[in-house]
Amino acid sequence: MKKRNTIQRELVLNAAMELDHPSAEEVYNKIILTYPTISKGTVYRNLNSLTEDGELLKITVPDSADRYDTTLKLHYHIKCTKCGLFSDLNISYLSDIDKKISLLTGFKLESHEIVFKGVCKNCINQ
Ligand SMILES: [Zn+2]
Ligand SMILES: [Zn+2]
Repeated sequence: MKKRNTIQRELVLNAAMELDHPSAEEVYNKIILTYPTISKGTVYRNLNSLTEDGELLKITVPDSADRYDTTLKLHYHIKCTKCGLFSDLNISYLSDIDKKISLLTGFKLESHEIVFKGVCKNCINQ
Protein backbone atom coordinates (compact mmCIF):
# COMPACT_ATOMS: atom_id res chain seq x y z
CA MET A 1 0.00 0.00 0.00
CA LYS A 2 1.35 3.37 -1.03
CA LYS A 3 1.53 5.86 1.81
CA ARG A 4 1.08 9.50 0.91
CA ASN A 5 2.48 11.24 3.92
CA THR A 6 2.07 14.91 3.47
CA ILE A 7 1.99 17.52 6.19
CA GLN A 8 -1.73 18.05 5.59
CA ARG A 9 -2.39 14.35 6.00
CA GLU A 10 -0.58 14.38 9.34
CA LEU A 11 -2.57 17.41 10.45
CA VAL A 12 -5.85 15.75 9.56
CA LEU A 13 -4.95 12.48 11.30
CA ASN A 14 -3.76 14.28 14.43
CA ALA A 15 -6.89 16.41 14.62
CA ALA A 16 -9.07 13.30 14.23
CA MET A 17 -7.16 11.63 17.06
CA GLU A 18 -7.54 14.59 19.39
CA LEU A 19 -11.27 14.88 18.77
CA ASP A 20 -13.78 12.23 19.78
CA HIS A 21 -15.57 10.72 16.76
CA PRO A 22 -15.49 14.01 14.83
CA SER A 23 -17.40 14.85 11.68
CA ALA A 24 -15.40 16.17 8.70
CA GLU A 25 -16.61 19.65 9.59
CA GLU A 26 -15.28 19.35 13.16
CA VAL A 27 -11.88 18.18 11.91
CA TYR A 28 -11.74 21.17 9.56
CA ASN A 29 -12.83 23.60 12.30
CA LYS A 30 -10.06 22.34 14.57
CA ILE A 31 -7.30 22.56 11.97
CA ILE A 32 -8.12 26.10 10.83
CA LEU A 33 -7.56 27.34 14.39
CA THR A 34 -3.85 26.70 13.86
CA TYR A 35 -3.62 26.59 10.04
CA PRO A 36 -6.13 29.14 8.75
CA THR A 37 -4.99 28.72 5.14
CA ILE A 38 -5.90 25.05 4.76
CA SER A 39 -8.92 24.48 2.52
CA LYS A 40 -11.97 22.44 3.34
CA GLY A 41 -11.36 20.39 0.19
CA THR A 42 -7.87 19.43 1.38
CA VAL A 43 -9.19 18.31 4.76
CA TYR A 44 -12.02 16.28 3.19
CA ARG A 45 -9.70 14.72 0.62
CA ASN A 46 -7.26 13.64 3.30
CA LEU A 47 -10.04 12.22 5.45
CA ASN A 48 -11.09 10.10 2.48
CA SER A 49 -7.62 8.87 1.72
CA LEU A 50 -6.94 8.06 5.39
CA THR A 51 -10.18 6.06 5.40
CA GLU A 52 -9.23 4.24 2.19
CA ASP A 53 -5.84 3.39 3.65
CA GLY A 54 -7.45 2.01 6.81
CA GLU A 55 -5.99 4.60 9.17
CA LEU A 56 -9.43 5.95 10.03
CA LEU A 57 -12.85 4.32 10.15
CA LYS A 58 -15.80 6.18 8.70
CA ILE A 59 -19.00 5.62 10.65
CA THR A 60 -22.36 6.21 9.05
CA VAL A 61 -24.58 7.93 11.60
CA PRO A 62 -28.35 7.93 11.12
CA ASP A 63 -29.82 11.43 10.77
CA SER A 64 -26.47 13.22 10.86
CA ALA A 65 -23.07 13.61 9.23
CA ASP A 66 -20.62 10.72 8.97
CA ARG A 67 -18.06 10.58 11.72
CA TYR A 68 -14.46 9.45 11.80
CA ASP A 69 -13.06 7.01 14.30
CA THR A 70 -9.45 6.35 15.24
CA THR A 71 -10.39 3.12 17.01
CA LEU A 72 -9.95 0.67 14.17
CA LYS A 73 -11.19 -2.47 15.86
CA LEU A 74 -14.86 -3.26 15.10
CA HIS A 75 -17.10 -1.77 17.77
CA TYR A 76 -20.56 -0.32 18.27
CA HIS A 77 -21.72 3.18 19.11
CA ILE A 78 -24.50 4.86 21.02
CA LYS A 79 -25.95 8.26 20.26
CA CYS A 80 -28.08 10.63 22.31
CA THR A 81 -30.91 12.02 20.21
CA LYS A 82 -31.15 15.12 22.43
CA CYS A 83 -27.60 16.41 22.92
CA GLY A 84 -25.87 14.50 20.14
CA LEU A 85 -23.46 12.71 22.48
CA PHE A 86 -21.80 9.93 20.52
CA SER A 87 -19.64 7.32 22.14
CA ASP A 88 -18.16 3.86 21.96
CA LEU A 89 -20.07 0.97 23.45
CA ASN A 90 -18.10 -1.43 25.51
CA ILE A 91 -19.67 -4.68 24.33
CA SER A 92 -18.00 -7.28 22.20
CA TYR A 93 -18.58 -7.46 18.47
CA LEU A 94 -21.30 -9.97 17.58
CA SER A 95 -19.55 -12.05 14.93
CA ASP A 96 -22.29 -14.71 15.16
CA ILE A 97 -24.63 -12.37 13.31
CA ASP A 98 -22.15 -12.08 10.44
CA LYS A 99 -22.01 -15.89 10.20
CA LYS A 100 -25.81 -16.17 10.18
CA ILE A 101 -26.23 -13.49 7.53
CA SER A 102 -23.53 -15.09 5.46
CA LEU A 103 -25.34 -18.45 5.57
CA LEU A 104 -28.62 -16.77 4.77
CA THR A 105 -27.41 -14.70 1.84
CA GLY A 106 -24.29 -16.38 0.52
CA PHE A 107 -22.40 -13.13 1.05
CA LYS A 108 -18.81 -13.18 2.17
CA LEU A 109 -19.46 -10.76 5.00
CA GLU A 110 -16.99 -8.10 6.02
CA SER A 111 -18.68 -6.48 8.99
CA HIS A 112 -21.75 -4.73 10.26
CA GLU A 113 -22.26 -1.42 12.03
CA ILE A 114 -24.73 -0.60 14.75
CA VAL A 115 -25.51 2.81 16.21
CA PHE A 116 -27.93 2.60 19.14
CA LYS A 117 -30.10 5.66 19.68
CA GLY A 118 -31.73 7.01 22.81
CA VAL A 119 -31.61 9.67 25.48
CA CYS A 120 -28.49 9.84 27.68
CA LYS A 121 -28.49 10.03 31.50
CA ASN A 122 -27.67 13.74 31.53
CA CYS A 123 -30.55 14.59 29.23
CA ILE A 124 -32.98 12.40 31.19
CA ASN A 125 -32.09 14.25 34.41
CA GLN A 126 -32.63 17.70 32.93
ZN1 LIG B 1 -27.86 13.63 25.87
ZN1 LIG C 1 -15.84 4.52 18.07
